[in-house]
Amino acid sequence: MLILTCPCCGVTGEETEFHPGGEAHLKRFGPGSEDGEFTAYLFDRKNPKGVHFERWRHAFGCGKWFHAARCTATLEVFGTYPAQVSAPPEEIVARIRVRRPGWEMPA
Ligand SMILES: [Zn+2]
Repeated sequence: MLILTCPCCGVTGEETEFHPGGEAHLKRFGPGSEDGEFTAYLFDRKNPKGVHFERWRHAFGCGKWFHAARCTATLEVFGTYPAQVSAPPEEIVARIRVRRPGWEMPA
């Protein structure tokens, strides 16, 4: 079972209390962008086996969106952080590097 802690209200709960929102830190492209950029924004996802950064919503709690860093293979959660950032916080990246030596931040 995936256990997440909402960084907005501090509640820790099972994944059924939250709602997944897909991959985090996507670069958005809108009107005026190239077709290839817009297509990649809409459809291309990393879907890794291992460390992944995701968007989650505390659906049965405060209702706010946040980001989570977790392992898709083991369900280990490295940390959660507010959705208003464009990259994971350094302390979470450092925690991932301790737990997954050799891991590199995806481009
Ligand atoms: Zn919450």
